Amino acid sequence: MAVDYQSLAVSGVQALQPYQPGKPIEELARELGLDPDRIIKLASNENPLGPSEQALAAARRALDELCLYPDGNGFALKQKLAERYGLSMSQLTLGNGSNDVLEVIARCFAGPDSEVIYSQYAFAVYPLVTQAIGATGVSVPARDWGHDLDAMAAAVTERTRLIFVANPNNPTGTVHSDAALRAFLDAVPERVLVVLDEAYCEYLNGDGYPDGLRLLDRYPNLIVCRTFSKAWGLAALRVGYSVSSPAIADVLNRVRQPFNVDSIALAAATAVLDDEAYLERSRAVNTAGLAQLAEGFDGLGLPYIPSFGNFIAVDVGDQAGDVYQALLVRGVIVRPVAGYGMPRHLRVSVGLEHENRRFLDALAEVLGG
Ligand SMILES: *Cc1c(COP(=O)(O)O)cnc(C)c1O
Repeated sequence: MAVDYQSLAVSGVQALQPYQPGKPIEELARELGLDPDRIIKLASNENPLGPSEQALAAARRALDELCLYPDGNGFALKQKLAERYGLSMSQLTLGNGSNDVLEVIARCFAGPDSEVIYSQYAFAVYPLVTQAIGATGVSVPARDWGHDLDAMAAAVTERTRLIFVANPNNPTGTVHSDAALRAFLDAVPERVLVVLDEAYCEYLNGDGYPDGLRLLDRYPNLIVCRTFSKAWGLAALRVGYSVSSPAIADVLNRVRQPFNVDSIALAAATAVLDDEAYLERSRAVNTAGLAQLAEGFDGLGLPYIPSFGNFIAVDVGDQAGDVYQALLVRGVIVRPVAGYGMPRHLRVSVGLEHENRRFLDALAEVLGG
């Protein structure tokens, strides 16, 4: 009799829905016969500036060494990060994107008997890594689209091992103040690890918003995750990292793949940390773009969730799927978020001014037509 190999997968994996990425430009061009140069993609929270010239130059230099394994300890990058943020290198764990680190954390600290807490509307990777290891995911209902931190702390049981908090959150763009986050951390028992995902922290303006790295001394159960994919503009290269106590980092570094960040990625990430001007431009373009999009939505009478990331979720009504398709036909790729339980919203990443304009014009045409 034929074996049903799918039934051999652990039960959490059988129930898994694969992560739905934004549609690649080439794929849309192929499907609809459009000119790829005429398509704009505002679907994956990528940096619209293109990569930093300094990062590009370093990546090109690294190509000469393609026959060598990368530095498995990522010494140069860790040294630069430690210097920049006032850390010890022993606190760092590098990953193939911060998604890699999120998965390693789950594998190290949770298992089939554990519960893992995250918020409704939180980043899709949290339930994914939780289910993949056979742990029980506890999704706590959101408050005003953001994490209900009180309810999340109250959801802790004897079996809770991990809590994921995204600040700002993707796809809602919501954020918590430093005071709210501290109150939450005070309420969580020290034996429960809190993963603070700060993928968008570079876009925050400081004012009363938390810097997870400043909380590590006070909260030994905290793991802060960051990435080079967004404000630093290196999404293709897959580099992220966590900062934690050295003891936690030691555990994570035992389990991660020995060469999980490649040489080109290491070189580019190390170089981009010296390109302060690039980071400043990323922030400026984002601030202007968020305002432009918000103004456009106001003009169209569309409600949106005020965002602290490099994207914004807009309520386009109960035919969001059709609006998404109609935008595709016009060569504009955004992100449907029905899979997040947000069937009325589309998430649009902040682009350059002319891209935001083209998206808003196409949206007006679709909704008016
Ligand atoms: C984009 C994003 C990341 C970063 O993913 P990488 O694997 O580093 O590219 C992490 N967390 C959230 C919430 C994100 O939106």
